[in-house]
Amino acid sequence: MGAVEEVKSRTDIVELISGYVSLKKAGRNYKGICPFHAEKTPSFVVFPDTQTWHCFGACGTGGDVFSFFMQREGLDFSEALRELARRAGVLLSPPTPQSEAADRQREKLLDIHTAAAQYYHHLLRQSKEGTHAREYSAGREINSETLERFQLGYALDAWDGLKDHLLDRAYTEDDLVEAGLLVKKEETGSIYDRFRNRLIIPIRDTQGRVIAFGARALDPNDVPKYLNSPQTSLFDKSSTLYGLDLAKKSIRNNDRAIIVEGYMDVLSAHQHGHANVVAGMGTALTEAQLKLLKRFTKNFVL
Ligand code: ZN
Repeated sequence: MGAVEEVKSRTDIVELISGYVSLKKAGRNYKGICPFHAEKTPSFVVFPDTQTWHCFGACGTGGDVFSFFMQREGLDFSEALRELARRAGVLLSPPTPQSEAADRQREKLLDIHTAAAQYYHHLLRQSKEGTHAREYSAGREINSETLERFQLGYALDAWDGLKDHLLDRAYTEDDLVEAGLLVKKEETGSIYDRFRNRLIIPIRDTQGRVIAFGARALDPNDVPKYLNSPQTSLFDKSSTLYGLDLAKKSIRNNDRAIIVEGYMDVLSAHQHGHANVVAGMGTALTEAQLKLLKRFTKNFVL
């Protein structure tokens, strides 16, 4: 039996779905209010015999434990498999030395981003140097709660602010270059902070982990106005949506996602109580981004 089949056979679909939907027995099956569309009369049915579910109401969706868990938690298949396997005590194929090394490097890059986000955030909140950044965000009417929720930050007007801070924490220059936070000049070999004198906007994945940064110039003479982290093993801008980690719940509840142009539009919308708002990464919307959103709704407003 393959791992997928084994997870399926060891997971009780009624028990899993009961964690999300209040089910009542109806003959051999179970019925409840569909979690994927708004309804008053239960038309969502779970079939223990076949370990499947189906909505006979407006959304007409259905499937097995995986499709339910993916849609409900907003996961892709491999994420859902990993979590359900863990719960069911099924061992997935043993890791190879290469995959273990890749996992470790990925964890390290995520740790670096977490540490960098905290460093920038602290500078925006507390530092004397960050005064003009605080004035800028106040001028854009970003309140303190939004500033916290999105963990905005400030990058010093210096070549080695973040670099010194993170090298002190035993990360190497190579790691920081790989994370996209330092730039290495090929001709001279000099290594310095990518983001300088900018308002820092952490970019997070669907699970809320910081994977990159956007940075807005504070000096009107600085170009470009917005500078993003480069493509890294954590960050692919064509498959990332800004704000999705904080918007996903509201997108599902409203059954609608509103897609705006920039970071500041997202901040402002969320601050005014419209939490189902996300933004692209300064490029045209991609198929990968829409696929990601489709885990939460099929209704998009541009
Ligand atoms: Zn439904």
